[in-house]
Amino acid sequence: MGKVIAIANQKGGVGKTTTAMNLAASLAVLEFKTLVIDADPQANTTSGLGHDPKGIENSIYECMVDGVDISSIILNTEIEHLQLVPSHIDLVGAEVEMINLDNREEKMKNVIAKVKDNYDFIIIDCSPSLGLITINALTAANSVIIPVQCEYFALEGLGKLLNTIKIIQTRLNPDLEIEGILLTMYDVRLRLSNQVVDEVRMHFKNLVFETIIPRNVRLSESPSYGLPVIAFDADGKGAVAYLNLAHEIAIKNGMKNTTDA
Ligand code: ADP
Ligand code: MG
Repeated sequence: MGKVIAIANQKGGVGKTTTAMNLAASLAVLEFKTLVIDADPQANTTSGLGHDPKGIENSIYECMVDGVDISSIILNTEIEHLQLVPSHIDLVGAEVEMINLDNREEKMKNVIAKVKDNYDFIIIDCSPSLGLITINALTAANSVIIPVQCEYFALEGLGKLLNTIKIIQTRLNPDLEIEGILLTMYDVRLRLSNQVVDEVRMHFKNLVFETIIPRNVRLSESPSYGLPVIAFDADGKGAVAYLNLAHEIAIKNGMKNTTDA
């Protein structure tokens, strides 16, 4: 049974998509069967993994609302063991159309249940909102990763997100855990970056991943190649950091990868 991890923060530009595609690729390189679900209408994970969103007809949304079979829309990627449920712009209208559906918060959970057994990990890239699609993702998930950028206002909005998580734990998904808070875009030369690390660690203690993602130009270039960073700069510090994160998560979840032998 695959572990479902949502990558969420309603703040834009904190590294959700970068984390979703590169963590998923790293788990796949460790030979875990991994599915990444693009649940953002901006479809950055879809294009980042080499698929043109303009050519996509069905996304997770059509599975949730129109009953499209998720198995029929799963795409392969350049990375072995890594598959993708793509997104496209129509996901924007989804929230409005879903408002009158019964169990509207549980649609994604029911869709994912159909393929959960086929994977070790299912990673959901959320949009920068706390709307119905993100609520669906958090209801479907076993845990959530919260990327926090090592920048000014790093903690801004985090209270609201944690409150939303609490409400979901109370009403919709009592088993939802915080997998970890992930510090992203860290710049060792900046005092501010180091201050943010200290502040977040002081506040959230062992909820914060040991692995810190550095600012790394290869990570920002990778979407233009349609590849995760590990596919073209495997020894670079961005790729190594996401591989370390994948190891940290695998160990935390008591999962052994075959490459460790
Ligand atoms: P989100 O999905 O939260 O909006 P993204 O992952 O798209 O955030 O990141 C926002 C921008 O920052 C993108 O241009 C991305 O390439 C860049 N970026 C993300 N993480 C890093 C990093 N560790 N180093 C350098 N650039 C990064
Ligand atoms: Mg994004």
